[in-house]
Amino acid sequence: SMIGLAASPTKVIRVRPPPKMRNAEIKNANDDLKGSVDWLISKIKESMTGMKTSSGVYEKPEPVTKVDHDIWVYMDHYDGNVNSTSLEILGAARRVADLMNTKLAAVVIGDEIDNIIDTAFKYGADRVYAGVTEGYKNYDNDAYTEALSLMIKKYSPEAIFYPGTSNARELASTTAIQVNTGLIADCIIFDVDEKGQLLSTRPDFGGKETSTIICPNNRPIMVTTRSGVFSAMPPMDKKGDVIKEDIKDLKTRIKLLEYKKLEKRNILNDADIVIGVGRGIVNRDNIGIVEDLANRLGAVVGVSKPLADMGWYPKDRQVGQTGTTIHPNVYIAIGISGAIQHLVGIQGSKKIIAINNDPSAPIFENCDYGIVGDLFTVVPELIKRLGEQNA
Ligand code: FAD
Repeated sequence: SMIGLAASPTKVIRVRPPPKMRNAEIKNANDDLKGSVDWLISKIKESMTGMKTSSGVYEKPEPVTKVDHDIWVYMDHYDGNVNSTSLEILGAARRVADLMNTKLAAVVIGDEIDNIIDTAFKYGADRVYAGVTEGYKNYDNDAYTEALSLMIKKYSPEAIFYPGTSNARELASTTAIQVNTGLIADCIIFDVDEKGQLLSTRPDFGGKETSTIICPNNRPIMVTTRSGVFSAMPPMDKKGDVIKEDIKDLKTRIKLLEYKKLEKRNILNDADIVIGVGRGIVNRDNIGIVEDLANRLGAVVGVSKPLADMGWYPKDRQVGQTGTTIHPNVYIAIGISGAIQHLVGIQGSKKIIAINNDPSAPIFENCDYGIVGDLFTVVPELIKRLGEQNA
């Protein structure tokens, strides 16, 4: 009874070009090279200070509807520690819950979960639904699907948001089948329309368009989200009700023989500044000037897909949809056009800076600060001015 094919309970309501996500301030280096480069350096420095703590104050939106059931966020965890992307999704779902004028709840499945419950409150949950699965401390698809399905049937949430981890994505799909509802995968934007419907937007058609999808009739609405796109709320001193459910006699067909932690870390993930270089660099040797700039700034170099495909840079430095999703304080895109597949991988950056000689390049629609100019003029000038300023 696990797999059934049915007409999808979800419905695409809108397909449109990727949205503009940032308001760019742009200067033209052809008018004033030194002035625009100094301005850019001041913006880079500004972006590096006051950024270590989670940014800003959350502004609660005016509700557009009143929904009676809670919005849940599934907390993915291992060995008693919550995966940080779950906390980012709590941030995204907080706004949805406020727009729907309802409670934001975390759902935690597992054994020995007190620490995870505390963390969920700290990052914005109003209440926690805790499914205590004795003997299943860590994720097991069979047992967790059964436990979560039970909790859903008992408490009828309006929607469940899952982080984009592989376990949570798997759990979302198996649970959607058990409770007969729709699943909208890999979302990057959420909104609530005037009718109170959740609008979930995801890249589609290989990322050339985005689709906005609704789940009109079935509940809960289930969405999985792309990692690194959303920001967690600043941690707060908060507590709430815990609704505990002891779930016994769970069955599983899975026998875990060994657990191996993946040691490989992608250095792009940990960088404070990433400099992305694209086809505008013309050839492999020219990447050297970007590396010089990276050394000056303490940045890590990433590349667009064509450069990785041509073997000009290692594949694990590719930024974007089929590469790494990054979330540095500052991302500087140099000679990169800003294709949607690239943009979805950089949206988690606090500030995006673009250097491109084509004023109509899409990257300028999706950056915070931009310089229109030839990278072979602007980058050497940046290096020179950084050197002079630090002298
Ligand atoms: P181009 O689009 O060729 O842009 C080069 C830019 O450099 C232009 O804007 C140009 O104005 C500028 N330029 C040229 N000369 C100069 C100069 N002298 N000074 C300043 N600027 C200059 N792409 C990714 O990056 N990451 C992914 O993960 C990814 N995944 C994909 C998955 C799928 C399924 C598909 C279909 C595509 C994917 N792509 C991905 C490819 C993506 O669609 C684009 O083709 C790619 O991002 C373009 O790379 P680019 O910006 O370096 O090159």
